[in-house]
Amino acid sequence: MPAVIEGGRIEAAPVVQGCLSKMAIAPGEPGGPVRYTLRAGEHRLDLNARLGQPLELNWTGAIACTHCGRATKKSFAQGYCYPCFKKLAQCDTCIVKPETCHFDAGTCREPEWAERHCFQPHVIYLANSSGLKVGITRGTQVPTRWLDQGAIQALPILTVETRQQSGLVEVLFKEEVADRTNWRAMLKGEVEALDLLAERDRLLARLDGGLGRLRERFGVDTIRALDEAPVTFDYPVLEFPRKIVSHNFDKQARVSGTLLGLKGQYLILDTGVINLRKFTGYEVAVS
Ligand SMILES: [Zn+2]
Repeated sequence: MPAVIEGGRIEAAPVVQGCLSKMAIAPGEPGGPVRYTLRAGEHRLDLNARLGQPLELNWTGAIACTHCGRATKKSFAQGYCYPCFKKLAQCDTCIVKPETCHFDAGTCREPEWAERHCFQPHVIYLANSSGLKVGITRGTQVPTRWLDQGAIQALPILTVETRQQSGLVEVLFKEEVADRTNWRAMLKGEVEALDLLAERDRLLARLDGGLGRLRERFGVDTIRALDEAPVTFDYPVLEFPRKIVSHNFDKQARVSGTLLGLKGQYLILDTGVINLRKFTGYEVAVS
């Protein structure tokens, strides 16, 4: 991208280089689009400002573990080296399936980490990323989690005391509603607005028996209904792709094109889309 600098000379845009973190996404001004910041090492790049302009990312071939910083040939679980992947509680399967929490069996990989992350209030929410879905997140991760998924609407519906409880509630909801995003539909912008309050009331009525059984098991006050208003998000997208082509640094180190939009953790370029979260820890030069 040519940029005019002092004295009127035209120079190439400065190249920033560093290991990718997932993009920082924040709600915008009221009525305005969500704000995206690309993070490469210590560098920060305002991506909303780059909409409609050329953007190029070049992977140097290096990957650094996001936990220990060691170089790794391959990334495990979106950014970890193999030893960390095998050792850290945050990489254990019970994080993806919290209902399988094995803390009580004394086999938690890192009990202290679990105290800080799993034995904390969690929220069960409904979101609309490619249709209705249910999800769970730690209370502090709202609204980041929704923005990372590209949800256009979200509504917290229940709060629970631990991650395991949130997993058990989610299992119950999965009988009625999806827990995954169809990322292709999400990126194509083929998402109709939903009445999340009506969906909430319908699901809570339908799952009343199952929720009652969980309350009997954990205590009546552990699973509490929330009375919140739905939130909506507007993503900075100039043009949705009609066909989805994915870029992948592992196959092609150079990814370039005109930036047409940002949604979830994806860059939408005129040449294809890329899920930057998948490449956490990859060292890239961005210009
Ligand atoms: Zn590591």
